[in-house]
Amino acid sequence: MMGYSHSLSGAAAWLAAAPVVALVAPMGPREVLMGAVVTAGGALLPDLDSVGSTASRALGGASRGFSRLVRHASGGHRQGTHSLLAAGLMGLLAQLGVVLGFSWAPVALVLWVGLRGLKLLRSAKTVLLAFAACVAGVVGLHYAGVGMSWVGVAVALGALAHLVGDALTPEGVPLMWAPWHRRARRYTLSLFTTNTWPEHLVVTPILVVGILLLGRLSLVG
Ligand SMILES: [Zn+2]
Repeated sequence: MMGYSHSLSGAAAWLAAAPVVALVAPMGPREVLMGAVVTAGGALLPDLDSVGSTASRALGGASRGFSRLVRHASGGHRQGTHSLLAAGLMGLLAQLGVVLGFSWAPVALVLWVGLRGLKLLRSAKTVLLAFAACVAGVVGLHYAGVGMSWVGVAVALGALAHLVGDALTPEGVPLMWAPWHRRARRYTLSLFTTNTWPEHLVVTPILVVGILLLGRLSLVG
């Protein structure tokens, strides 16, 4: 799927899961809203194995080399980064940042990617400047009392939503991929091809309506 659809799927997954997540990590409307954007960002991270992806472009020129490195290490596009193991590791790394007191770093990074993915921020003079604004925003939210204990779950959930989205396309995803199991079976429902009319006219509108309905349920009740 395209970056925009992936972002929407992440936000929708978060809003659907928020009542359950709230059982283990206390959340109010501010956390739910922020979590939707963080999960939207998490839903773009698996495509860091592709130089032209939304996540890679959102992180600026320096990410080209990083994406090539990720692609090489994970065995190519839609290989290692599109596995359950990778989704879990992404969530774990983000949570580690929160536990160690560096929540501003992973949260600002994923928040920035999510804002770009959802097309809420189309352009910025420099990526560094925009990222600095995100860091300032996250630090401000932290001091305003916004909890961050849900971040790891949000990032992992976003990555899982990405895997589901790509599993709808013919290329599928190697869910059980691991460094010791690189030829994992690819799972696919083969419902539509990326960037064709079913994605634009069916999947994207369903996700937008889902977000509006779930958002109303989560925030208004
Ligand atoms: Zn993908």
